[in-house]
Amino acid sequence: MTPPCPQCHTAFVVPRRRAQTTAAAIGGIAGAIQGASSAMTDAKENDDPLGVIASAILGGLLGGAAGCVAGSAIGAPIDQALPDNFRCQACGHVFDANRTDPVLT
Ligand SMILES: [Zn+2]
Repeated sequence: MTPPCPQCHTAFVVPRRRAQTTAAAIGGIAGAIQGASSAMTDAKENDDPLGVIASAILGGLLGGAAGCVAGSAIGAPIDQALPDNFRCQACGHVFDANRTDPVLT
């Protein structure tokens, strides 16, 4: 559950998900590279250039999707530990759920 904005007391508050977004992007790229290179290694044994390219694309897509999911799972708990992880959509105030007193933020 998201806390109300400490500044304007509305409930239009969204989590910022900085770590989750970053980790998902890194995981997606790393997964794509890993997936493409391992698929290419497998396809090279058949000595078919089109097969290598197709395998690289397919492996990249599959690896990217898997990496994105993994990165997202890793990033979610990091986000909860980061300070100022909520943003009010009404007034734009950024605050920490564990430190809701506006005097301290
Ligand atoms: Zn607000």
